[in-house]
Amino acid sequence: MPRGTIYWFVVFYIFAYILQDAEMRNIHAPYESPASQCGYLSCHPTKPNMLNVHLIAHTHDDVGWLKTVDQYYYGSETNIQKAGVQYIIDSVVDALLKDPEKRFIYVESAYFFKWWREQTSTVQESVQKLVREGRLEFIGGAWSMNDEATTHYQSIIDQFSWGLRRLNDTFGECGRPRVGWQIDPFGHSREMASIFAQMGFDGMFFGRLDYQDKDERLMTKNAEMIWHGSANLGKSSDLFTGALYNNYQAPEGFCFDILCTDDPIIDGKHSPDNNVKERVDAFLDYAKTQSKYYRTNNVVITMGGDFTYQAAQVYYKNLDKLIRYSNARQVNGSNINLIYSTPSCYLKSLHESGITWPTKSDDFFPYASDPHAYWTGYFTSRPTLKRYERDGNHFLQVCKQLSAMAPKKSPEFEAHLTFMRETLGIMQHHDAITGTEKQKVALDYAKRMSVGVRACATNTRNVLNQLSVKSETSSRTSEPRTDYIFDFKICPLLNITSCPVSESNDRFALTLYNPLAHFTDEYVRVPVPHYDYKVIDNNGAAMDIQILPVPHSVMKIKNKSLKAEYELVFFATNLPPMGYRTYYIEKLNSSENLCRPNVSPKKTSSLTVIGNEHIKLGFDTNGFLSEVTADGLTQIISQEFLYYEGAKGNNEEFLNRSSGAYIFRPNQNKIHFVATQVEIEVYRGELVQEVRQKFNDWISQVVRVYRTRSYAEFEWLVGPIPVDDNVGKEVITRFTSGIESAGTFYTDSNGREMIKRRRNQRDTWNLKLNEEVSGNYYPVTTKIALEDGTARMAILTDRAQGGSSLQDGAIELMVHRRLLHDDAFGVGEALNETEHGEGLIARGKHFFFFGQSGNRSGVSLKASERIAQLGKLLPAWKFFSNMKSYNSEEWLTSFKNIFQGISLALPKPVHLLTLEPWHQNQLLVRFEHIMEKGEDVHLSKPVQINVKSVLSSFDIDDMRETTLDGNAWLNETERLQFVPDPEEEEYNSYATFSRSAKAIHLLSAAKPLLGVQYYDEALPSGQLGAESNRIKRAAYTERPELHKDDQAPGSIGADFTLKSGSDHQQYTIELSPMQIRTFVITLSHV
Ligand SMILES: [Zn+2]
Repeated sequence: MPRGTIYWFVVFYIFAYILQDAEMRNIHAPYESPASQCGYLSCHPTKPNMLNVHLIAHTHDDVGWLKTVDQYYYGSETNIQKAGVQYIIDSVVDALLKDPEKRFIYVESAYFFKWWREQTSTVQESVQKLVREGRLEFIGGAWSMNDEATTHYQSIIDQFSWGLRRLNDTFGECGRPRVGWQIDPFGHSREMASIFAQMGFDGMFFGRLDYQDKDERLMTKNAEMIWHGSANLGKSSDLFTGALYNNYQAPEGFCFDILCTDDPIIDGKHSPDNNVKERVDAFLDYAKTQSKYYRTNNVVITMGGDFTYQAAQVYYKNLDKLIRYSNARQVNGSNINLIYSTPSCYLKSLHESGITWPTKSDDFFPYASDPHAYWTGYFTSRPTLKRYERDGNHFLQVCKQLSAMAPKKSPEFEAHLTFMRETLGIMQHHDAITGTEKQKVALDYAKRMSVGVRACATNTRNVLNQLSVKSETSSRTSEPRTDYIFDFKICPLLNITSCPVSESNDRFALTLYNPLAHFTDEYVRVPVPHYDYKVIDNNGAAMDIQILPVPHSVMKIKNKSLKAEYELVFFATNLPPMGYRTYYIEKLNSSENLCRPNVSPKKTSSLTVIGNEHIKLGFDTNGFLSEVTADGLTQIISQEFLYYEGAKGNNEEFLNRSSGAYIFRPNQNKIHFVATQVEIEVYRGELVQEVRQKFNDWISQVVRVYRTRSYAEFEWLVGPIPVDDNVGKEVITRFTSGIESAGTFYTDSNGREMIKRRRNQRDTWNLKLNEEVSGNYYPVTTKIALEDGTARMAILTDRAQGGSSLQDGAIELMVHRRLLHDDAFGVGEALNETEHGEGLIARGKHFFFFGQSGNRSGVSLKASERIAQLGKLLPAWKFFSNMKSYNSEEWLTSFKNIFQGISLALPKPVHLLTLEPWHQNQLLVRFEHIMEKGEDVHLSKPVQINVKSVLSSFDIDDMRETTLDGNAWLNETERLQFVPDPEEEEYNSYATFSRSAKAIHLLSAAKPLLGVQYYDEALPSGQLGAESNRIKRAAYTERPELHKDDQAPGSIGADFTLKSGSDHQQYTIELSPMQIRTFVITLSHV
């Protein structure tokens, strides 16, 4: 475009902008913007009889990786990486304002809003205009581009909700992304597809999939597909998904960024370096080649990469030339058309092509980038950071709930909550929770978490004081208080039995806040320095207690200023839903030795058994678990710790790949036992029985069964992993049973639906496996299980881990890894975590379930696992307050020591997934059915609840259903619908390929390739406008009907039978298995 025209545009747009834009402030979600030209309306036209090349100008801005979030944002530490996000957004906005033809997408809301805050209102207004005209488009839009293997669905949903809300608040409808953009995560989960679909996204693109899968999909034109995101939710979870041709990079030779060394396009007419012909030839060839692997006459080419566009004009100037000189050839018969585009414009073109698409029902795990690089190490890397993230999510939910229930809101609540929300958003990034960042960056994430927790802890302290100190609610000052009566301190090191309040006070209170919408009970463990204590509940009743010594291996942990030598255990029952119960704990002065814990006498000749009426665990004379009895079944089941040696190599060829932060590659798949003999100690008491095992100097475990539980707890402690033999080690726990699992096992997808896995096999292609151990590893976010016709064994984890079943009946989980070499995927460091000069120690829990696989009396095993899973994710949060000033009598009479936040407990299969303050006088709530179809005869039925009855403690004025992210009204949300291939058959493998370095060869095709040609008869672009072509979204219309006879909700929760009355109907909702429904609730003005 001639210069003069550009200036004219700029001048025009500035004027037009000043005239148009008056009311873009104070938007309340969901917000309808005035008529605008964003989204599908802003796409450049394609040419129906040409190959349309959609050029996507983009930047991939990791929210921490080699540098911290702030180092990336401000651009410091350039010696590590030349990357400054602030410059990217500055220069892109400049470039876009100069030329309305250009497009740019931005993805990571964490960075965008950091930048936005710093801008003048003039700049903000210019950006508003760019967004309104679709020139700057938000894609993805979550706080970060989350990992998909190690993240929990609750956190994914949260971080999308927050990113999309900020976009909605700032830009209205035009800020709402339509397309998911998961270009870098290392494999893709089915749950993520389901979540995108339920948030109203029209499609999603990603970059990384297994190289064999990719080859085959390209050769068979199946790289773009309809992904069935859920086995329970039907069409509402279908998502159009595309695998990008070149991950997310520019074609080789065409990175025009200042970070790259590729030549610019040199078009000086008489320049000796003029390379226009050669460059255009090469680019068009590339586009033609790519088009052979895709079905329509559109291809997408990503023109960008990591932290590109710091000087956007450089990239854009060359793209301008590329487009101009390429399209100029059309007059001479070229049928290739280059346009500035966006992923949504590309998706629109695919949709308009009117063709059908293959389908997919499994997921994209594990991801392998070459025959010896299975990206399955990061499922476990940095186990303590992974656990800390889960703790953070737990506390975020507690903080949200208590902030929402506060009788009196303090002005600082929202800021603290937001900080915590954003911190958890950052933690989900694909180089954060994955453990694939540099050590310094991992420490920065941990520090952010601790600051976030402390900030939110001021909210919880304030609200709990309001609720428990009776006079507090009546005082009406809005000043932030600092003179609280109770501390309500949190003890982040309870997992290693450390808590300053309980360790150094003879009298203290323990408040158990239950974040679930059910009555719960819990065995509570409190670190204490003595063994003579008395615990009373809120009614003054004395609790049964048991005292246990802290395990030796925990006492040994260095730099732990340990005063607690004991753990006090009691059974807290009837914890009110979304409420608390407080206990008063006091050291006795008696010197009587009533409770001093004793080790049971050693057995040398027979089985050592611990357990209860539900489950019994037997340990052999060598100290190993040897048999389990539960549910009327007894089986030989063993458990042991083993380790793989991490492969070491120079990474110069595939065969020399090292095991590292991303990659799990055991040296020759050899496995080492850590012990042949285990020292054990046995403790038996009224509440809990424990076997404490010492495997060696760096691995120990407590196996325990609580009196009323039907599962066992394996609390493992691993580290410091020794590396003085110069061998990196990857430690696993392995449970071996006699279950005839025939190569099949099940792992969860982000903590929700289970996915069937088959050893040495993939569902959609003939797998050629060169790494038999790591190629069979799958992400275990919360659960792994296997079964046969008789028995079932399942293990719940407390954090994401890698897991597999390498022999029938066996389950292994990798718990910790310490490596001495980098795996050459960019992080540039060995995964060698240390603390206090030694290898990092990690401690965690596995919850072990065993029983009948089929029907049994009462709740099915699968359903009990689901219920336990919820309790393990969100147990009661423990708040400690010292009681120096109040004796137990005063405490009992002066304070409110029990509180129930919601009026009715929900039926067991329903989880109140979210309760949080949203916009002013609004709450965001989500109800979730936690069972899958068929998991339990009763609990898997649809359930009805009445929201107003459940939340009657809130003054509800109105309730409206939204998409899963809470930012768009559900009944106004429409999604592009794509049509599956006619046969509607699953995409199955019908070809095998071999791969050489440069080319893909088709060896045999058992079934003819689809051979879809360019769709020449495509409708003229523009005819299928956003309106005419968008089908009214059918989400949630597929709810199973309530069958009056056998599915009456009363069978699940007697409190929830339907009552007549319109108000009741408006607030009565039904949930089918695995369904989540999201509502914005408006409260009467307070
Ligand atoms: Zn990345």
